[in-house]
Amino acid sequence: MKTIRTKEALSALSREWHAAGETVALVPTMGYLHEGHLSLVRLARKKASRVVVSVFVNPTQFGPNEDFEKYPRDEEHDFALLRAEGADAVFAPAPSEMYAADATVSVVESSLSKTMCGAFRPIHFSGVLTVVLKLFNASRCDVAVFGEKDAQQLSVIRRMVRDLDVPVEIVGAPLVREPDGLARSSRNVYLSAAERQRALSLHEGLDAAEAAWRAGDDSAAHAIATVRNALEGKADKVDYVVAVDPVSLAPVERLVPGTLLAVAAHFGSTRLIDNHFLRGSGRNA
Ligand code: AMP
Repeated sequence: MKTIRTKEALSALSREWHAAGETVALVPTMGYLHEGHLSLVRLARKKASRVVVSVFVNPTQFGPNEDFEKYPRDEEHDFALLRAEGADAVFAPAPSEMYAADATVSVVESSLSKTMCGAFRPIHFSGVLTVVLKLFNASRCDVAVFGEKDAQQLSVIRRMVRDLDVPVEIVGAPLVREPDGLARSSRNVYLSAAERQRALSLHEGLDAAEAAWRAGDDSAAHAIATVRNALEGKADKVDYVVAVDPVSLAPVERLVPGTLLAVAAHFGSTRLIDNHFLRGSGRNA
């Protein structure tokens, strides 16, 4: 596995691969890798002949009072996991390599990124889109894989690719959970044992809402109430619980296959997100 630190070296490698008739998949991450990230690498492997994983804690997607400084980092461990997974290259640039000190251009999405997490993290999605587009350009990737764990991020990236004619195929990968149902996240290390226990309410609430849908209740208001009920006394603060169309992120009244049930809540000082895409065939499917 090649370790690459500069955009120029990454572009050169990708050009070399393309000249040899290969295709390139990119998996963007912020590191501190877990099984969720590795599942994306495996999916990327099926989509292209070469796989590049980026490990970059992107400063521009963190708000002033967020956890950029304390975000967990362990480059050596990440690289060992990626080597074992058979990634062809890891791109781990310094912030000064990614951004000109006097950069003045960024990508702004003006609708989908205003709701859900965007309502609480106003600069977040602009930071995400800007770095993702820069990573696409540097890697010259054909395909990029993103997790459905960050469902709003996936929708916003798909919209950017559509609206700016970005020549990259976007692939979504299923959410990977811990054995007890907690969605895998690099931020789970922040949780105390008690907070972690309370955070299981995210998954329990979503499960209960999906079960009710499968049993025939297609009311979005009921599903939202079910999730809020599960969080009652468990979450320290609930940012949102929504049932939305996965493309437009507009709220729905009736749950249908494909509807995104999504939640963000705080446990102690840690903010977690979770979601279910309603799938398969409930009585309403
Ligand atoms: P992050 O390092 O948190 O920025 O995540 C990098 C990529 O991994 C994003 O596309 C995430 O959606 C994805 N990802 C993170 N956690 C999970 C998970 N539990 N299951 C599936 N994908 C995930």
